[in-house]
Amino acid sequence: MTNETKNSVSLENITALAKRRGFIYQTSEIYGGLANSYDYGPLGTELLLKIKELWWNFFIRRRDDMLGLDSQILLHPETWVASGHVDSFTDPLVEDQLNHKRYRADLLIEEYLNKHPEEQKEIIIANLSTSELDELIGKYQIKSPDGNPLSKTQDFNILFETAIGAVTDKKSQVYLRGETAQGIFSNFKQILNSNRQKLPFGVGQIGKSFRNEITTGQFIFRTLEFEQAEIEYFFDPDTNSWEDLFRDWQNQMWDFVTKVLGIKEENLRWRRHTDKERSHYSKETYDLEYHYPFGWKELWGIAYRGDYDLRQHQEFSKKSLEYIDPQTNKKFLPHVIEPAAGINRLLLMLLCDAYQEDPSKERIVMAFKAKIAPYQLAVFPLLKNKNELVDKAKQVYEDLRQTYQVAWDDRGNIGKRYLSQDEIGTPFCLTIDFETLENDTVTIRHRDSAKQERLAISELNNYLKTALA
Ligand code: ATP
Repeated sequence: MTNETKNSVSLENITALAKRRGFIYQTSEIYGGLANSYDYGPLGTELLLKIKELWWNFFIRRRDDMLGLDSQILLHPETWVASGHVDSFTDPLVEDQLNHKRYRADLLIEEYLNKHPEEQKEIIIANLSTSELDELIGKYQIKSPDGNPLSKTQDFNILFETAIGAVTDKKSQVYLRGETAQGIFSNFKQILNSNRQKLPFGVGQIGKSFRNEITTGQFIFRTLEFEQAEIEYFFDPDTNSWEDLFRDWQNQMWDFVTKVLGIKEENLRWRRHTDKERSHYSKETYDLEYHYPFGWKELWGIAYRGDYDLRQHQEFSKKSLEYIDPQTNKKFLPHVIEPAAGINRLLLMLLCDAYQEDPSKERIVMAFKAKIAPYQLAVFPLLKNKNELVDKAKQVYEDLRQTYQVAWDDRGNIGKRYLSQDEIGTPFCLTIDFETLENDTVTIRHRDSAKQERLAISELNNYLKTALA
């Protein structure tokens, strides 16, 4: 917890670019917006789809020991009693005593400590009791952001409740899922029976989750509705060392972020949860943190949860969730390691990591890894009123679209078109000019260096295959 900022980009820059170029919009803006809610525009949607596809390929499709799942947002309400969410999925809430605006006590304290590093460098605020939080608020004389006194802290349950059908009695009450993981646990037996899968194996799922978050701000970092990509990796603790599996999953997470998404290692770090911070059933928890413009924050959590979840569901459902070892006939509840990521936080990280201002050339470049960029290529006819140039450019454009995501731009001058593509991260721009009509070559311009070279159209596919690998 420090206030030094490695990323020079500010959240305001990211928010403005995201809105201007159609990555992310405020939800229901025409009605004045909706707290903690954002919509994804044409380019943001492309990035979200890419992240999910890359995650799915990396963690599910290419592995023999992983299976996919798509469970419902609405589950049997008993699920959330068994999981502990109904009782303890709470955030510590404080209220401004004058204007009654609500805040998360732990985050107000964290913000105070960020601004006053001399107080204490590494206080871990997570999982402190309401009275411990009140004590810190008193000790540091923390006020609301409007400068008013704060109420006492109380637990606020962040599960969203709704009801099924016309009757709104207790029986029809359901919850919008607060995490995707519980659908994996409640399907454990069906997955086992229908796939004859042997331990160790994992189940992964991507989907929407909902939390009635108190805190506002920080853009898409913390929203009411968001997407998670969660894995439960089941194993026999007598056969597999949890420490080895845990380390292996940590490496997989690190590789995905650095190698697949291309994030800079210096903006990433592991933070181990303290004993106090960790849930009582967890033997080990780490957060993979990214250095966002507002500080080091959790991107992706990994926890060893023992057999807590399956045991709880077995007890509440009264159905055996035990695994029978086909060789030894040993009957037991498997243990799990849970890597749980937020897709929207991965997207925010991509935007922050890619953002570069190039003052000498007066341009903003989103230096996404070529494969990740919303468009891999843009195709321009040098002039828009010369039919032979436009026809040739359209032909190249249509050909490339069979394989890549390609933007078309014929507005303004070439220099402006380059700047416009730099700002959305398009790695290559191809210009069709008079020389193209003579010898079937194009100018290819590189986003990062702004250098140009001449290339035969027949060589393009091979060239791009290597460049976009
Ligand atoms: P935080 O401490 O930031 O509230 P958490 O520890 O409660 O997060 P988990 O329950 O571990 O989060 O959820 C797994 C992942 O889901 C997180 O690492 C994060 O990427 C994502 N996530 C959780 N809550 C939100 C939210 N409100 N908005 C966006 N992403 C979220």
